[in-house]
Amino acid sequence: MDLFEYQGKQYFARFGIPTSPGGVADTVDEAVAIANKVGYPAVIKAQVQVGGRGKAGGIKIANSEPEARKHASNILGMDIKGHLVKRVWVEHASDIEKEYYASFTLDRSAKLHLAMVSAKGGVDIEEVADSDPDAIVKHHVNPLDGISIDEARSIAEKAGIDQPAIGGVADILVKLYDAFVKGDADLVEINPLILTPEHKVHALDAKVTLDDAAGFRHPEWEEFRVTQEYDGREKMAKERGLNYIGLDGSVGIIANGAGLAMSTLDVVNQVGGQAANFLDLGGGADAKVMTNALEVINTDDKVRSVLVNIFGGITRCDHVAEGIIEALSRVELRNPLVIRLDGTNAEKAREILQPYVSDKLILRPTMLEAARTAVELANGGNVK
Ligand code: GDP
Ligand code: MG
Repeated sequence: MDLFEYQGKQYFARFGIPTSPGGVADTVDEAVAIANKVGYPAVIKAQVQVGGRGKAGGIKIANSEPEARKHASNILGMDIKGHLVKRVWVEHASDIEKEYYASFTLDRSAKLHLAMVSAKGGVDIEEVADSDPDAIVKHHVNPLDGISIDEARSIAEKAGIDQPAIGGVADILVKLYDAFVKGDADLVEINPLILTPEHKVHALDAKVTLDDAAGFRHPEWEEFRVTQEYDGREKMAKERGLNYIGLDGSVGIIANGAGLAMSTLDVVNQVGGQAANFLDLGGGADAKVMTNALEVINTDDKVRSVLVNIFGGITRCDHVAEGIIEALSRVELRNPLVIRLDGTNAEKAREILQPYVSDKLILRPTMLEAARTAVELANGGNVK
């Protein structure tokens, strides 16, 4: 679950990471009231889950109440890269001497936590990563050891953080590591982490991704969950207990097993197509599950063909075939179905499906052939 900036700041506060005083508003009047309370200059910030808000005009500094009103009314309702701004965060504007960058993520290949710190923070960190990668210090942290204040200091020094900020940055790194591990996050990022002219260090932005798999031990995350803006397809899939992730392509995917579903995405890609989703049916591919899957995929306007890729192990292909037939009697399919079944009882499954074969239900013997057909259909081709 990705948090909005204001939620990320609330989350940081629990771990003692300093931020500017502020509040969240969903109307212009509320925004102005908060600006009056925190004092001018105040910064009005669009709350959308997309980077580069500053460059898109979603962050403005107001020096007076009329300016706060003007900025808040411009920003609320703004469209930033396809995200509608429904809320703004208003905080007392900081004087900035320097902008730094700090984050923790999981480095899966190294099987360690990864700290990234840079003295060149601010809006162009992605560009720094490309043009001057050495300006970002990458430091692995062993989860069994954690990070000590001395280690944090040495990371800050290595990153070229200015002397007056070293103590503050190191302190925040230790707290940020807690926010990452104890808080059960997949990513915690502060960009910019600033040094003020008074030599105080604090977080001006907050990017936090919480680990959904740990949600069961965090009832307090409910307040974050209620404002999440789920993709309509994902919401429907979730309600139906499907393991579904929406993507942008035109080939709907139904597979059994996460590994096979991932491979199916790869094969579709390999033959020049784009998957519309990831969907793992898991073990039970009966009529109910198949109906649910087809109904969710049906709501996706971009889908032009559906690829069903089943490898029968404990799941028997003939059961899946019966499930498909039953599901087709319940769902009015908008797109052709290309089916590949292999493994336990695959022969029997093909016999069951054979009478239903048409230009809307196509059987293919291999994953590669099925993917080719599905992609041709998705690209507007005709397949006999
Ligand atoms: P992002 O563009 O979505 O990453 O939003 P940020 O919260 O990181 O803000 C972008 C930029 O706006 C920062 O790098 C700052 O330069 C500027 N900014 C944000 N808050 C303040 C503030 O309180 N004072 C000043 N002077 N600039 C700010
Ligand atoms: Mg930022």
